Amino acid sequence: MKITFLGTNGWFNTHTGHSTCVMAETKDAYIILDAGGGFYKTHDLIKEDKPIFLLLTHLHMDHIEGLQVLPLFNFKQGMKILVEDSSMLDLQNIMRLPYMPAPKNLKMPTEIVPLSKAKNLPFKLEYLPLVHPVKTVGFRITAEDKILTFALDTGPCENLLKLSENADLMITECSFLPSKPMGNHHLTPEQAAQAAAEAKTKLLALIHFKADDYDTLEKLVAASVYFTKTFAPYDGDFLNL
Ligand SMILES: [Zn+2]
Ligand SMILES: [Zn+2]
Repeated sequence: MKITFLGTNGWFNTHTGHSTCVMAETKDAYIILDAGGGFYKTHDLIKEDKPIFLLLTHLHMDHIEGLQVLPLFNFKQGMKILVEDSSMLDLQNIMRLPYMPAPKNLKMPTEIVPLSKAKNLPFKLEYLPLVHPVKTVGFRITAEDKILTFALDTGPCENLLKLSENADLMITECSFLPSKPMGNHHLTPEQAAQAAAEAKTKLLALIHFKADDYDTLEKLVAASVYFTKTFAPYDGDFLNL
């Protein structure tokens, strides 16, 4: 499984990165996780005709603002957009005029699918609700004998641990500065590290930094010291699991 970090910032796009988007490529599928500002970069990365799935954690704008580039895409296999059931209607209301063309008017076949109806996927998908002011789910993807966790935005919670248990790569958020929690709806780097350690994850990637507080790359690096196997990827970084 190849993981490419396309948007590693939280809240808004700055010189430290675009807002949230990660792509996991297996031999059977492209799995895009969130469609923040970095989403447009999938246009140049998707070269094969494997099925494309876009999994949305929630509908805060920094996770969906990239959807407005969908008219650019012309992948003949199309794209299935998977969203938590209770967010279906809100997503349909955003993906229409005057905001953007509706799915039926895009160049490629585009379908919005509620998570409960997403069956027969070419990977194992589990999801659980997280702690956030709006309905948000975290994902646990199993493919090619590897486990990838994508769990953001969230405060510390039991489901974060369940999703991350023994994961080969845990991608979670780091909105708050070290030792400065501003509520229980996001994580400090220490809280992310503690969850990674408790869940016995093999590797922790911190993304989704609160863009106004984490305004230098040095601060991103400094957030990575609390769990031995932690890194803060920049946009464009990739790794093979
Ligand atoms: Zn966010
Ligand atoms: Zn959010």
